[in-house]
Order: sequence, then structure tokens, then C-alpha cells
Amino acid sequence: MSTSFVTRFAPSPTGRLHRGHAYSAIKGFAAARKQGGRFLVRIEDIDTTRCRPEHEAAILDDLAWLGLSWEQPVRRQSEHLADYDQALERLRAQGLVYRCFKTRKDLAEAALSAPHGEVEAFRGGPIHPNEEDRWLDEGKPFAWRLSIDAAHEALRGFHKLRFDEKGEGPGGEHGRIQARPELAGDVVLARKDVGVAYHLACVVDDALQGVTDVVRGSDLFEACHIQRLLQALLELPTPVYRHHRLILDKTTGERMAKRKGGETLGTLRDAGMTGAELRAQLGFDW
Ligand code: GLU
Repeated sequence: MSTSFVTRFAPSPTGRLHRGHAYSAIKGFAAARKQGGRFLVRIEDIDTTRCRPEHEAAILDDLAWLGLSWEQPVRRQSEHLADYDQALERLRAQGLVYRCFKTRKDLAEAALSAPHGEVEAFRGGPIHPNEEDRWLDEGKPFAWRLSIDAAHEALRGFHKLRFDEKGEGPGGEHGRIQARPELAGDVVLARKDVGVAYHLACVVDDALQGVTDVVRGSDLFEACHIQRLLQALLELPTPVYRHHRLILDKTTGERMAKRKGGETLGTLRDAGMTGAELRAQLGFDW
């Protein structure tokens, strides 16, 4: 088996999969098969408030129904929190992250008072050490945010941050892309409640799992800007990105999302559809 092509499907077990997830999973699987490479499944279950083991079980069952197979064991992010802590510690030691004590309410109010109500990328920076000590003593919860300014200084600018897009971003982005992490602002790397957040866990795992090619929906294209920055700061390899078009809901024409309810692979299965039929409908010919 070739290890020169390794991809992964990385669902969050917050509900049943829908057609859009099926497309993504099959696309990754088919690409790995074509390249004689490896296909992995990673369960992104760090958000303990929304993820459920029964959703994970249903997801794996749906993937098998689709006719896919993957390497065992699957990597479950909730079992690897120490890996993300280590990465965070490395950034902390370089002075690239800071504690943010703002509450959701503070952030919502700031967004409301912004001109035209637009939500700007958050830029904060550490608070005064005396105040920080007081709040820590009081046990006030905090998130860890990446300081874009500190990162910019550490890397002497972001001009060297590029990545290869071999698929297509939402605006047709393709080819060698200049990353613009400053657009995202000081993103949260470790949430108050669960101690880590998506971008950090994702880049650490992509590296630890030896992922060479990330196949995912174009709604995640913007994540590359910050993920490319984290790869540089943590000295991790950058995979090739292959974003694909989104499958739209057939009746509403909107993009599909788990939280919207509606048709899931479970509904299709209950209606008697086979995995092979769905694969064919989605344009895959095996
Ligand atoms: N867990 C993310 C999701 O379900 C996917 C992240 C990724 O593929 O990078 O949307």
C-alpha cells in the first residue's frame, strides 16, 4: 500500500450524516483508491457538549453502508487531548497565545456595537498581568487565543505561507494560494469548556496521521488560512488541499447542515435506498 497518498474523512458526531457528507467521504475514499493510497476516518468529538457516541456509531454504520472501508482503529480526538495540550504548550512557550476571559455576551455586544453590526475578526491581546492574576485567582474561565500579531512577528510576516489547492475553494480558488491568516483574527485554539478547539486539533492530527491530502467541502476552505499558519508555527507539514463543491439540498437549494434537520442518510436508508444507488446518484461509478 502506498503511503504517498493519505487522506481522511473527519466527521463530528453531532448528528446523522447527510448527502453532503456522503459525497465528501466517497470522494476521499475514491481518491485514495485511485492513488493506491490510504483512507482514514477521524472522529472529531472534542465538543463534548454536542457530540454523542450514538451519533458516532450511526456515522460509521452509514459509511459502511456507502460501501467504504477504512483503517482501524479510527482516531477519536477526545482520546488524544494530551497531543493538543502539547502543541498548545509549544505555542505558549513562544509567547504566541494569550488567555481571553471574554464571555459570549461580551463578544456579542462588541459585534452589535460595531458599525453596521458586522462581526470583525477578533483582535485582543493579553490583559494586564495584575488583572489576569486576579481573574485566575477568582477562577474566571478563559480560552486560549492565538495572537496574530505575535505570530506575524515570529515568522517575520506571512508571505511565505502558501498552500496547494488542487480542488476548488468557494470562489474558484485553485493552485498555489497565499494564506491570509490575519483575516481570521486571533482565533480560539483552546476553548474554555473543552480545552482545545477545531483548528489546533485538526492540524495536529493531520500531521500525526501523516495526512498528505485533505479532501473536504469548500465551506472549509477558509480554515486553510489559519491552519497553514499553525503548521508553520508548530513546524508541521502542510498537506495538499482538495476542496470540493458542496452538495445542495434538492428541495431548498440551500447547503446542507446537520443542525437543519431534514434528509439524512438514515432517512434514505429507511426509504429503501442502497449505498450503491446513492453513490451513483452522487456521480461515482462503482
Ligand atoms: N469535523 C469537521 C466537520 O465535520 C471537518 C473538518 C475537516 O475536514 O477539516 O465539518
